[in-house]
Amino acid sequence: MLEDAASRRSLIEAVAQDVIDHAEELTALDQAVGDGDHGVNMKRGAEAVLADIDALAQKTLPEALKAIGMALVMKVGGASGPLYGTFFMTLGKSLPEKPKAADTVAAFDAALQAVMARGKSHPGQKTMLDVLAPALEQLKNDPSSSEALCVAAAEAAKATIPMRAERGRASFLGERSIGHMDPGARSSSLMITKASKILEG
Ligand code: ADP
Ligand code: MG
Repeated sequence: MLEDAASRRSLIEAVAQDVIDHAEELTALDQAVGDGDHGVNMKRGAEAVLADIDALAQKTLPEALKAIGMALVMKVGGASGPLYGTFFMTLGKSLPEKPKAADTVAAFDAALQAVMARGKSHPGQKTMLDVLAPALEQLKNDPSSSEALCVAAAEAAKATIPMRAERGRASFLGERSIGHMDPGARSSSLMITKASKILEG
């Protein structure tokens, strides 16, 4: 998988389309704890990726991921654009062209560390990191189970509901951020779930 342009195209297209299909949900989540633009931001990034899908699919996997990261930095904006951009660019820099499971775990780990450095944040602050970090742990424990990864990502997103935000706009709400799912946690969970299902075949 991912060694030919057609499979890279299917993966990139499916993840981008899923983000677009969930834009309204992401916006609604961001209306509760932020400024209501997360769906619009992510949709803009996903549309830019789809507009360039042929060229992206022709690139090697690492180069495609780097290009996706740069597109997200330029198009998504907000806090999440540079953070997702950093995530994908670091994945691209860290992955070999034909990754084995251990390479994927190591690249995911490097990408997570890069997002934490960029966001000056860590898991536990009600952000996308509260899905990305548990997803990495699950991958480390069992890199072969797509089902377990999807469950872990969905549960981690749900677990942000009772948390109090300590980073990003939601942190301005203090106690009032409690009781809502973090929008970035939800978008991370969506992308991980879709990618994992496509890669499973
Ligand atoms: P903005 O907050 O600028 O409007 P978005 O609405 O697109 O940007 O993205 C908000 C999401 O970004 C949050 O739900 C959170 O998951 C994530 N986020 C914000 N700041 C940080 C940070 N410092 N570290 C990690 N994630 C963050
Ligand atoms: Mg926002």
